[in-house]
Amino acid sequence: MTPENGMSRAAAPLEDDLAALADLVAAARRVVVFTGAGISTESGIPDFRSPGGLWTRQVPIDFDSFLASEANRQESWRRRFESDAIFRGARPNRGHRAVAELVRRGKAQCVITQNIDGLHQASGIGDDQVIELHGNSTYARCLDCDARYEIEALRVAFEADGRSPRCGRCGGLVKTATISFGQAMPEAAMRRAETETLAADLFVAVGSSLVVFPAAGFPALAKQNGAGLAIVNRDPTHLDAVADVVVNRSIGEALGAVVGVE
Ligand SMILES: [Zn+2]
Repeated sequence: MTPENGMSRAAAPLEDDLAALADLVAAARRVVVFTGAGISTESGIPDFRSPGGLWTRQVPIDFDSFLASEANRQESWRRRFESDAIFRGARPNRGHRAVAELVRRGKAQCVITQNIDGLHQASGIGDDQVIELHGNSTYARCLDCDARYEIEALRVAFEADGRSPRCGRCGGLVKTATISFGQAMPEAAMRRAETETLAADLFVAVGSSLVVFPAAGFPALAKQNGAGLAIVNRDPTHLDAVADVVVNRSIGEALGAVVGVE
């Protein structure tokens, strides 16, 4: 994307819902963008929680089960490596680029995301400006000493010996850096998300059905705190009634038009 493209506006006037969102963004001093699976489905990442999605067909391996047995850990890793092609092949789409442009302009200070695919970072937003509520699936960590491991190296070792990875430093269990079912929410990320939500005068919820708590409590918190609330999602959500603007469209099309990026 060239700077010229980043600044240009579509020649045609925006339709009413998009114009309303553009006005809100223009008037805001501090925007928080909150993203869910819907922004990444346009990059080919399936929504694992949707009806018919992977997680509704396979019993998820929760955190206690992962800790409990080597067989469960092997199954968990087998599934992760099976989905590797999806994660490795995914690239940021127009929606990610529009969010990155809001951060680049200083309009948004950070992105709070429920996604684990790392696509906000891949779109050029710094690690320190992405608050990941469900962790990150594109690398792994030792559960004991927090050492970082890359998925590709773990896959090669797993294919050689079939055993779940152990930490080379301390011998601890190595797990993708995601938050599993039954695993505590990441405290620092949750606190920071709350602080950023309370500091914002506009909260833009993007591609989330806003039903997975506690993460989905943030838009309601922003609204109670007096911020504007915009919801951009393909389908209606239960918070639409209290939102200032609701846009039910493709995320990339909507944010791309509002921010002026292709
Ligand atoms: Zn370790």
